[in-house]
Amino acid sequence: MANAYDFLIVGQGIAGTVLSYTLLQKGKRVLVIASPRHSAATRVAAGLFNPITGKQLKKTWLAEELFPFLQRFYPEMEKTLGMRFFYPTVIYRPYRSVQEQNDWMARSTTLETWLRTDTDDTFYRRYTPAPYGGLETLHAGYVDTNLLLDRYADYLRQREALRDEVFDYSRLEILAEGQGVRYGQYRARYLIFCEGAHGRFNPFFQKLPFNCVKGEILDIALAEPLPFIINQGVSVIPAAKEGHARVAATYQWNPLDEIPTAQAREELCQKTQNLLTVSFQITGQKAGIRPATRPRRPFVGLHPQYPALGIFNGMGSKGISLAPFFAQKFYEYIENRKPLHEEVNISKYFSKQ
Ligand SMILES: Cc1cc2nc3c(=O)[nH]c(=O)nc-3n(C[C@H](O)[C@H](O)[C@H](O)COP(=O)(O)OP(=O)(O)OC[C@H]3O[C@@H](n4cnc5c(N)ncnc54)[C@H](O)[C@@H]3O)c2cc1C
Repeated sequence: MANAYDFLIVGQGIAGTVLSYTLLQKGKRVLVIASPRHSAATRVAAGLFNPITGKQLKKTWLAEELFPFLQRFYPEMEKTLGMRFFYPTVIYRPYRSVQEQNDWMARSTTLETWLRTDTDDTFYRRYTPAPYGGLETLHAGYVDTNLLLDRYADYLRQREALRDEVFDYSRLEILAEGQGVRYGQYRARYLIFCEGAHGRFNPFFQKLPFNCVKGEILDIALAEPLPFIINQGVSVIPAAKEGHARVAATYQWNPLDEIPTAQAREELCQKTQNLLTVSFQITGQKAGIRPATRPRRPFVGLHPQYPALGIFNGMGSKGISLAPFFAQKFYEYIENRKPLHEEVNISKYFSKQ
């Protein structure tokens, strides 16, 4: 039947991109409905993937599974799209004090897979003061998210698998059980919402505890290209365009809008000045809304009452790391009935009264 699909996907941020790509690779018939009129946090994101975060050197949840998975996933996708967007590199983290040096050195003994302390600080001091030296986070890097989204949209268009339009909930018809959905002229077995922060307004998933967070980022031009990522309070991440970088990021819960502010610019600029010895100029500033959640876990699963509807969202500040692994898990859940991780499965929110 023409216009019959296995999956309709709403949204083409990193979640919709990675999920639809995963499904296409499995031979599924997929149509992505995404509107450039709705903002995408992925287009604001720094694209960083980082297994060890914060002052406490906290290991990312499921790091042992997420990071090897993404290190295979993105390069394979690069081959399919015939382009480069995935840049593995270390994150250099200068110590702030002798105390921090001691604490982190001690902590690193339990994180040997992820951290290296015998760093060549002389090399790094060309870019950052690092008076106490620093350590390297391994298995890290960044994705050029705008390039990925643009090229993947072209890839979908070539396959007539992308509709540039706003999804209208009122046009959705949920058919009898097992029959899937109809949306205008399209029919599908499943419709999966990948709407990012817009998902908090989705009428079918009002029970999910979103806790979205605004974030701002600076684009900068550097006097000398930066060959690695530096982190101390902010991350300075090289951009694919040589001599450019991005400074990420702020966290703000109120107001939840996408308007860049002077305050964030000042905060990010100040931290960058403290962190870099290389001179820089601000060339841009962007704001976006992270689709974060109260339990700090993604929202994945099918609607208990309308099992033809699903959600792949709640990636918070780690969409680049989480999306590939959980897209695969979601596929296995839908097609092979393999259980989803309890922590991401949305079913628990519907059983609560
Ligand atoms: C300042 C900042 C820095 C960040 N840095 C990083 C980072 O370094 N690393 C990292 O992993 N994460 C980072 N994040 C978080 C990251 O942006 C998110 O985890 C990720 O982008 C979420 O992707 P998503 O696809 O769920 O949502 P989005 O990227 O927001 O995509 C949602 C999509 O849905 C579409 N859409 C929504 N509703 C509709 C509708 N009704 N009809 C049609 N289309 C619709 C939108 O157009 C969009 O295409 C950052 C976020 C911010 C704000």
